[in-house]
Amino acid sequence: MGRTTKSRALYERAQRVIPNGVFGHYGHSVTDESPVFFESSQGSHFTDVDGNEYIDWICAYGPMILGYNHPVVDAAVARQMASGNTVSLAAPVLVDLAERLVDRVEGVDWALFGKNGADSTSLAVMVARAATGRRYTIKVDGGYHGSAPWMQAPGSPGTVDGDQSQVISIPWNDVAALQAAIDAHPGDVACFISSPYHHPAFAENALPADGYWSQVESICRAAGVALIVDDVRAGFRIHLSGSHVAYGFQPDLVCFGKALANGHPIAALTGTDAFRQAAMDTFYTGTQFFNAGPMAAALATLDELEKTDAANRITTLGERLNAGLKDVAASRGYDLVVTGVPGMPYYANGGDGGFKRHHRWITECVKRGAYLLSYHNNFVSVAHTEEDIRRTCEIADEAFAALAD
Ligand code: PMP
Repeated sequence: MGRTTKSRALYERAQRVIPNGVFGHYGHSVTDESPVFFESSQGSHFTDVDGNEYIDWICAYGPMILGYNHPVVDAAVARQMASGNTVSLAAPVLVDLAERLVDRVEGVDWALFGKNGADSTSLAVMVARAATGRRYTIKVDGGYHGSAPWMQAPGSPGTVDGDQSQVISIPWNDVAALQAAIDAHPGDVACFISSPYHHPAFAENALPADGYWSQVESICRAAGVALIVDDVRAGFRIHLSGSHVAYGFQPDLVCFGKALANGHPIAALTGTDAFRQAAMDTFYTGTQFFNAGPMAAALATLDELEKTDAANRITTLGERLNAGLKDVAASRGYDLVVTGVPGMPYYANGGDGGFKRHHRWITECVKRGAYLLSYHNNFVSVAHTEEDIRRTCEIADEAFAALAD
């Protein structure tokens, strides 16, 4: 029996009835040797259907921040579910959660809820257009905001020119390009949407240059352009009051998703009073948007994030993991380049062999029980331990040895 025989068998079944077998971003990580299906998860670990256990440095691509099956969060969900989840009226927890986010997130006055990050980023753009009466959206090259047609690269299958014709893409960290894009469409740019730092897939990640965000803020203010921060991925891993606090600026609209409820399905758009009327005017709803269970999960998650000083703890653990891996790499003559914030490290090979060699090293790590990705930032959670870091470094070392063989 191979290491991932059961995963492979399930994957074959999946391909018969599901286009791509496992679709979207979960499909991108499927290789001939990788695990594809999980059996169970607990804390910072999961076990695949073949019984192999992994230290999980992907955290479900971000949602897991406190640990899988977190007892406090899951008990809050169970209590809410016992009284009701999807009912013909809204649950009080809707109001509790909105109040909580308004208190927690710096500089915002209201919140609306959806399910996925793309719900909040799409709504943010609509609210910006409703508020300004303008058409254009400026985004950053390689910036990801979800899979809606306007967010996809021009020419993507299933989209038409019109879907992206009012989206302008500019390089990251380029205030001159932002100003030029605004000047090219006088009075017609509704918003600039960007993640708080640049975390593209398949490319090294990049932090904002000194003064970048304050310049962006003044350019947007001067031109009446709404400033949207997409904190769907980085939210709560850099600062518990929103990543904009760490970078010293105030957006008009802030999108959250992923880690907001430790894996329970909910996303939020938060905004300032200046955009409240536009948010009221914009039609926005969804059958599942009022699910009360995930709202209870979000409230409990926010409590636990505060109790555990999550963003700082994740940053410290990330720094230790990254330093440990860099040391191990150096001792094997490998230049491991670490970019992005410490709690969401993107790893790359700075030396010979480029991406191919890096990918082989990551594959060897996965085989030995450290679940990492070669082309995407990884994620650290509150549930990770010093022992997880120690063991991951040991695995990384064995993986380098295997590469040399
Ligand atoms: N924005 C960012 C920064 C993201 O990373 C993602 C998801 N990877 C999204 C938006 C879209 O979120 P979702 O997949 O939940 O729609």
